[in-house]
Amino acid sequence: KVLRVAIMGLGSYGTRVAEAMKESKRAKLVGVISGTPSKVETWRQKYGIPDKNCYNYENFDQIKENPDIDAVYVITPNSLHKPYGIRVAKAGKHVICEKPMALNAAEGREMIAACKAAGVHLLVGYRMHFEAKTLEVVRMQRAGEFGKTLFFQGLSGFIIGDPTQWRLNRELAGGGAMMDIGIYSINGSRYMLGEEPIWVTAQEVKTDPVKFKEGVDETITFQMGFPSGAVASCLSTYALNNLDKFYLDGTKGFAEMQPSTGYGPIQARTNNGPIEREHITHQTVQMDEMAAIILDGKKPVIPVDGEEGLKDLVIVDAIYEAVKTGKKVMIG
Ligand code: NAD
Repeated sequence: KVLRVAIMGLGSYGTRVAEAMKESKRAKLVGVISGTPSKVETWRQKYGIPDKNCYNYENFDQIKENPDIDAVYVITPNSLHKPYGIRVAKAGKHVICEKPMALNAAEGREMIAACKAAGVHLLVGYRMHFEAKTLEVVRMQRAGEFGKTLFFQGLSGFIIGDPTQWRLNRELAGGGAMMDIGIYSINGSRYMLGEEPIWVTAQEVKTDPVKFKEGVDETITFQMGFPSGAVASCLSTYALNNLDKFYLDGTKGFAEMQPSTGYGPIQARTNNGPIEREHITHQTVQMDEMAAIILDGKKPVIPVDGEEGLKDLVIVDAIYEAVKTGKKVMIG
């Protein structure tokens, strides 16, 4: 059995997912939801999508009557994840949603409740949770091979271009670099250390207040504390390139991943030497695994469900509060 997926939002990442799904054994692109008729036409021809599986943002609630679509993958700007995700759930289809799952924890809880009420899955596009080298580092950490892991460093950033894009619009993005790229360091700290933070502190720096308007963060450094005594030190920025690195240190060993979350091959080494695994397009593996979760009830090693998405949003909220107040913010 295959998972029949409609993609909502035919932008750059939606295109990447569609291309990757061609190689997927368990997930198949069968439908599209878009506000741009010309894109629908291109996709219809390119992927052989039947007319009856093409929707726009006004009429996609009718997907409820369509037995040939199992799930909708929401790949729109961030602020639309919640309203569109909830409409998909109400139409009785499984929701796969891009990161960040929503703009804040309150919205995330609404999405979880809506999907629960509708009896559908809510999965978040955390492709690194299925990446082979990442999973090996996680296995080693859980097995105690690094000893007691007490330090994580996460560096996440790139120089953002076009100042008019939605990523720099507070209403559509819900913030700035933190919502888009900083969330990788938040998420990474949690799966690399295998525990949940109990406090955060954070500091914001803005060198270009014209490009990065009020409510759109350019650079934030943040620190997190964990129950074991582990600490994390992270950087989220839209002002520097070459920042895609995780470092995990324990009493008996270490793991270094650079790049740690990029699309291409991940590089990982530990105190035992490099980790070698075949690179398979992340989104191909992700869609195969998500199909197994939805169709077979498979439990992934690192969760990708709504609760997992919510944990990151709780931390995002705490980081923004810490930036605003200058105080240490307790979590949970
Ligand atoms: P994009 O701008 O390339 O595409 C967004 C699409 O949404 C466009 O096709 C646009 O037409 C459509 N859209 C629908 N309603 C819109 C509205 N009101 N305003 C603007 N656009 C609207 O962006 P993208 O890079 O594809 O990012 C989309 C989502 O995917 C984001 O949430 C982003 O965080 C996520 N993403 C995830 C990864 C990953 O590796 N998991 C990578 C890139 C992007």
